[in-house]
Amino acid sequence: MSVIDLRSDTVTRPGPEMRRVMAEAEVGDDVFRDDPTVDRLEELAAGMLGKEAGLFVSSGTQSNLCALLTHCSRGDEYIVGQQAHTYLYEGGGGAALGGIQPQPLDLEEDGRLDLKKVERLIKPDDYHFARTRLLCLENTTNGRVLPAGHADDARALVEKHGLRLHLDGARLFNAVVKSGRPAAELAAPFDSVSICLSKGLGAPVGSVLTGPADFITEARRWRKVVGGGMRQSGLLAAAGIHALEHHVERLADDHANAQRLAEGLAQVEGCEVDVELVQTNMVYVRLPEQKRQELPGRLEERGLLVYPGHPMRLVTHLDVSSGDVERAVEAFGEIL
Ligand SMILES: *Cc1c(COP(=O)(O)O)cnc(C)c1O
Repeated sequence: MSVIDLRSDTVTRPGPEMRRVMAEAEVGDDVFRDDPTVDRLEELAAGMLGKEAGLFVSSGTQSNLCALLTHCSRGDEYIVGQQAHTYLYEGGGGAALGGIQPQPLDLEEDGRLDLKKVERLIKPDDYHFARTRLLCLENTTNGRVLPAGHADDARALVEKHGLRLHLDGARLFNAVVKSGRPAAELAAPFDSVSICLSKGLGAPVGSVLTGPADFITEARRWRKVVGGGMRQSGLLAAAGIHALEHHVERLADDHANAQRLAEGLAQVEGCEVDVELVQTNMVYVRLPEQKRQELPGRLEERGLLVYPGHPMRLVTHLDVSSGDVERAVEAFGEIL
């Protein structure tokens, strides 16, 4: 019996076709700027996002870090969601390595930032304060697409105050597929955009940071400083190219499977799911308190991997079929 892994969309394994293009990739030394496959990936990603240039980095964390280090200097500040990856889950890298101060504030339920509150947090030009330089948004957040128009409103705000705008688009292509809007359109309001190749797109490693050419030149410097200059990384970039060329439209299957999973679990006694909040590949389930502890272990006995949490987040991806979703719903039903 195969294992169904709903812990994250990072768990996908490269399939035979992806492995083939990796094995056959033409490579060079990317620190010397002569790996043609890395160049091809960077151009492809930048083109899809409507940006001038791209930078292949080892992870989404490194991508956001390079963006922070490029947009902000020591003593500068970025405004960011309290629950956003670029604040909460990146080890305080901007502060640790760049002397950059975060100014977090709570995200709204739908992933927006209250821009009136953001405006009040922008510091006046006065040497008592850090210099506010950057605003960061995320799309998708908790599997939800940033509401249309919010990025444009954020753009207007940063223009008014001379700030920059960065998007952590780790799952931007899920938003693209769900909204039916091209990636370049969703990316347009932002100065810089980071995308992950190793989430729903199914590549084993890597992210791409995109933005204006001079910004990427500077970010390339920071990538080297943080130890992210890679050599024959065309092997990895080839997987990224394959992911961008073949795994974007199929994200719709993951979304349909998440919808099925949500609807199935909503029928299971003891599971509470807001089906209408499921937009892309994530389902959040609230479980009875007396079952929360034992459930992950009991599910694992039935070949189902979940990450404990309340609510419990379940993620669909390339390696989860509609049959797997049925099996998952059955397993929850039997245990609960
Ligand atoms: C996964 C993720 C990242 C990057 O994470 P890495 O594990 O460093 O690749 C950034 N932002 C969001 C929203 C993510 O989900």
